[in-house]
Amino acid sequence: MQLDSSNTMRYCRHILLPEVQEEGQETLMNSHALIVGAGGLGCAVLQYLVAAGTGKITVFDHDTVDITNLQRQILYPELSVGYSKVETAKQQLAKLNSQVEINTFNKQFDHSDKSTLNSVNVVIDCSDNLQTRLLLNTLCWSKKIPLISGSAIRMEGQVIHFPMRDDDPCYACVASFFNEPSLSCMEAGVLSPVVGTIGSLQATEAIKSLLNIEPSSLSLLLYDAHQLAFQTFKINKNPQCNVCADR
Ligand SMILES: [Zn+2]
Repeated sequence: MQLDSSNTMRYCRHILLPEVQEEGQETLMNSHALIVGAGGLGCAVLQYLVAAGTGKITVFDHDTVDITNLQRQILYPELSVGYSKVETAKQQLAKLNSQVEINTFNKQFDHSDKSTLNSVNVVIDCSDNLQTRLLLNTLCWSKKIPLISGSAIRMEGQVIHFPMRDDDPCYACVASFFNEPSLSCMEAGVLSPVVGTIGSLQATEAIKSLLNIEPSSLSLLLYDAHQLAFQTFKINKNPQCNVCADR
């Protein structure tokens, strides 16, 4: 896909940025992003990546829209309750940007889907369980595909951008650091826009990754909505990591 007279105006606020310009916008328009999970994080990621003109988007989610989702999953209108999330998302996103190709999988991402990653330039993990996160991490590490990880609960959230370069840590290096909560949003609750904040940060990192703007060293970004505070923690490779350590 190339910029032409019909979409140069559409993306002109991107093109003005020295970090993007016409070349960067064309790179975005020829990129493929995989989003796993179309819940609160996924709704924010999908809307920004589609509006930004990411050429191709693949999304996995096995859920239907539930009335308890409407408080924060802002892609889904009231009338979509009971319908497939990915199908509803596809319809809504097509209204936002008809130039983006959207492929949907109405299923939970699992090992049988690993070939989906073959043509993908970035993976955005918006899932809600450790098993999927670890699987995406292992696949992204083996295929050297950047992974943007995010999660949110109560009034806090976190984001990490893993470029998956040889000397980088991976999600498994720091998984213990997260102290994977035994509680889910279903049990503990989550403040509506906190998922949008974290999803927006994930979308920003995904676009940066597609434009080859990678962090030189890796940090975990923690957002504390209660205190209106962001904190970053440097993360290091675990030499014993069973995914990324040299053996
Ligand atoms: Zn690792």
